[in-house]
Amino acid sequence: MNLTRASEIICDAVVTLAYPQICVICGRSVEQRRFGVACESCWKETRIFTDDDEICWKCGSPGPPACGRCEVLAFTAARAVGMYKEALRESALMLKRRPHLPRHVEDLLVAAALRELFSVSTRVVAVPLHLKRLQTRGFNQATIIAETVAKGLALPLDEVSLVRVSSPQKYRAGLDVKGRRDTVAGAFEVVHPRLVAGEDILLVDDVFTTGATASACAEALLEAGAKSVFVLTLARA
Ligand SMILES: [Zn+2]
Ligand SMILES: [Zn+2]
Repeated sequence: MNLTRASEIICDAVVTLAYPQICVICGRSVEQRRFGVACESCWKETRIFTDDDEICWKCGSPGPPACGRCEVLAFTAARAVGMYKEALRESALMLKRRPHLPRHVEDLLVAAALRELFSVSTRVVAVPLHLKRLQTRGFNQATIIAETVAKGLALPLDEVSLVRVSSPQKYRAGLDVKGRRDTVAGAFEVVHPRLVAGEDILLVDDVFTTGATASACAEALLEAGAKSVFVLTLARA
């Protein structure tokens, strides 16, 4: 262990002693600040994908190599750190309230990005929020994740090319992939096509549900001349 890492751990322990944090899942104390809102044992219970997981090659859903539901989605392939459950779910919810990622989540994101198909990527883009929502929340949670991924892969973060032009609509209950896709179709626009033309884009978001949002972004990016669009999310529903 190097000196910086050692002093980080000591620092962590001191802060935790001064301000004890309670695990939002089990109520025990979180011994190390780097775990964020959940304790180490709740993190151990959380489903994080590994190379041994059987997943759909394109959309990353657990199961057979071709799930048969994702052909309509425009991106090249999508992967997530793990399932939207337990500590990952709580971390994603916390990220909507506070623009900060705990160290453990950062490490998981970078590990997933390095392990997956993203080595071809040349540019990181976050799924944008509509301006109105950005003003209410004060930050875009996808940008916080994208900053970590861009830093971890030493890639430029593009915060200007892709914008959300229509307000997010509430999905009607029971909508399938196609229904959701129709709802967000045309919601995104590339305003600087010169910056994405010929690039392999790594699109980043917090949660992957049906993939409709990522697909709508990918459509806009590909139309603007991007070569490929891979998607990385913190969690998948
Ligand atoms: Zn716990
Ligand atoms: Zn699939």
